[in-house]
Amino acid sequence: MSAHPGDTKDRRIPVGISACLLGSPVRHDGGHKHSRYCTEVLGRYFQFHSLCPEMGAGMSAPRQAMRLVEIDGQIRLRATRGEKDFTALMHSFIDQELEHLAHLRGFVLMAKSPSCGMERIRVYRADGEVARRDASGLFAAALAGRFPLMPLEEEGRLNDDGLRENFVERVFVYDDWCRLQEGGLTAEGLLAFHRRHKFQLLAHCQSTYRRVGPLLSDLKRQPLPVIAEEYITQVMPALARRVSRGSHVNTMLHLTGFLREALSAEDRRLIHQQIEAYQRGEVPLVVPMTMLRGAQSKVEQPYLATQEYLRPYPDALGLRNRL
Ligand code: SF4
Repeated sequence: MSAHPGDTKDRRIPVGISACLLGSPVRHDGGHKHSRYCTEVLGRYFQFHSLCPEMGAGMSAPRQAMRLVEIDGQIRLRATRGEKDFTALMHSFIDQELEHLAHLRGFVLMAKSPSCGMERIRVYRADGEVARRDASGLFAAALAGRFPLMPLEEEGRLNDDGLRENFVERVFVYDDWCRLQEGGLTAEGLLAFHRRHKFQLLAHCQSTYRRVGPLLSDLKRQPLPVIAEEYITQVMPALARRVSRGSHVNTMLHLTGFLREALSAEDRRLIHQQIEAYQRGEVPLVVPMTMLRGAQSKVEQPYLATQEYLRPYPDALGLRNRL
């Protein structure tokens, strides 16, 4: 299998990040929320594009803390004390900024912020009482609305092994998709993309896997960009679903089927043994996966050689050691 694009430092994937997570002192208290995992680990593979919406909207650091307030049915961004309203400034910043973010393949957002928070942001009533706790920050909501396929994640959620692995996997797939578009979409390119991500899709969501195959069976029925859009709008949300242990087991067994002829009975027995050990939770995913990769590299199986499921991101991230 060829080297993964993310293995080389000369091609890091462009990913956006809330500036305070990179250690910039842009928070309302003049501090930051430096994420060492982002800068020291993900930064080896992601070229971070840092952005602070509140500073971008013209605020200074330090400044008053902000919060979302619902007034006459509208969500406003206001200072926590007094009535100073920054909604128009923020929307104007967002309108200008979003068009410069189309090249990003993902975004790591700071949680709990009325600007950057992805979910569970409090909205207050004018009298200061909490009206609800289910909003998104203004910038995060606009980002998700403008780039619905772009993987977004909050930094705090990256502490969860499964969510972290899922986010990184999606960034690599989305990057592959964007590069396919940028290189000029062709029928062959679209089919090759589907082929190399097929097992990932199977692991994440069997029903989407079954649905999108027929979508690509007749590429003349509609203009190619229309079919491609229909395809990817099903694939990216499906990849956001967590893969259960059972689903990884099924996918690995399916994959092993392609190697049946080429492997000795003993090799097959050893692979099955480790898949079962993974199923019982005795070894992490990396163990059977490494055996499958070893088996795949020994045999001439061009179809499996292209499967991103076997190597969805650089090994050095160690993500499958913890699944
Ligand atoms: S959470 Fe967002 S708006 Fe707040 S300081 Fe960090 S980057 Fe700026």
